[in-house]
Amino acid sequence: MKKPETTNHKQETENRRFETNAIRNQLERTQYLEHSSPMFLTSSYVFEDAEDMRASFAEEKERNVYSRYSNPNTSEFVEKVCEMEGAEAGFAFASGMAAVFSTFAALLNSGDHILSARSVFGSTHSLYTNFFPKWNIETSFFEVDDLEGLEATIQPNTKIIYAESPTNPGVDVLDLEALGSIAKKHNLIFIVDNCFASPYLQQPIKFGADLVIHSGTKLMDGQGRVLAGVTVGKADMIEKIYRFSRITGPALSPFNAWVLSKSLETLAVRIDRHCENALKLAEFLENHPKVNWVKYPFLKSHPKYELAKKQMKAGGCVVAFEVNGGLQAGRKFFDSIKLLSLSANLGDSRSIVTHPASTTHSKLSEEERKKVGITDGMVRVSVGLEHINDIIADISQALE
Ligand SMILES: *Cc1c(COP(=O)(O)O)cnc(C)c1O
Repeated sequence: MKKPETTNHKQETENRRFETNAIRNQLERTQYLEHSSPMFLTSSYVFEDAEDMRASFAEEKERNVYSRYSNPNTSEFVEKVCEMEGAEAGFAFASGMAAVFSTFAALLNSGDHILSARSVFGSTHSLYTNFFPKWNIETSFFEVDDLEGLEATIQPNTKIIYAESPTNPGVDVLDLEALGSIAKKHNLIFIVDNCFASPYLQQPIKFGADLVIHSGTKLMDGQGRVLAGVTVGKADMIEKIYRFSRITGPALSPFNAWVLSKSLETLAVRIDRHCENALKLAEFLENHPKVNWVKYPFLKSHPKYELAKKQMKAGGCVVAFEVNGGLQAGRKFFDSIKLLSLSANLGDSRSIVTHPASTTHSKLSEEERKKVGITDGMVRVSVGLEHINDIIADISQALE
């Protein structure tokens, strides 16, 4: 789908900054002169006459026909994300996984092959191993530290290189520019799930990504209210994704899109604070005697610190660490937490602690978990927006 023309482009957007566009790219005002974009809870739209009806269905005009295809609120949300990511076009989905699945499904044929980083979101991993084989789509995995070996694993039927950075839950950082140039050299589609960074911290298209996927459920909404997903990038690829999705029906609801457009208005200020809090927590944990190791992209001890600095504006909201004492100590830590939430989500204003081995990555075998660095004593903290002293105090008492 082309960029919707419904948004307010009265003022040149070219020279405006990220924060300004996030707020000022909004729907054209209606006759009521509302200040904040209204919600369009309508499943369909009317035609002016027989000719309008024919031309609309023939897609001779770009207009809203039915909300499975497009809706003003989803268009507003997509437009904001396109602007943030520097993308030509996009499509919004009911969840991050709907975006991941529909993107693959629209672009791949039976017999195609995916080259994916081994460290990916658990459900994406499940698609590769439990569902895509049904349609004769094969996946092989590369290690985050072995990009040199990657070219040798490209097959004649390879179509897509897929990666996340930083990764979940190990917060490894992948060299997006290196991946982008390998993809370009071999004429492959390079897709980045940018959920952990958000477009405020990292724009993968700058490093050669063709498509960028987000779970809007995480940092984009940032307040744990709605599920959403979005894919943005090259217009010809988005067109295929749009054709597929308009028929299969994974579209984002207008209500959720409206919530997300509001959420994006505060993305920059929220993420600044998420990152400030996360870095302080990581520094605290680094000096704690009961902690074996801490990983956070903007800690100097992170193996990819320099790369993270090059690719990202700040380190993100997720800190990973290992409690010493393995599973027993890990369980005790979770049982002692008082303020933070024990939940599987992330990127929320509420800080969340998760035990990846028994939750998000429990479907992986122990060996697969080991390969992506998930140990039994590993804790993933999604650092929220509470006062940092309260976050540290809770983690500190739980470690004792
Ligand atoms: C949560 C998540 C997804 C899936 O998003 P949903 O909105 O839960 O469907 C995909 N990728 C990453 C990295 C995620 O964290």
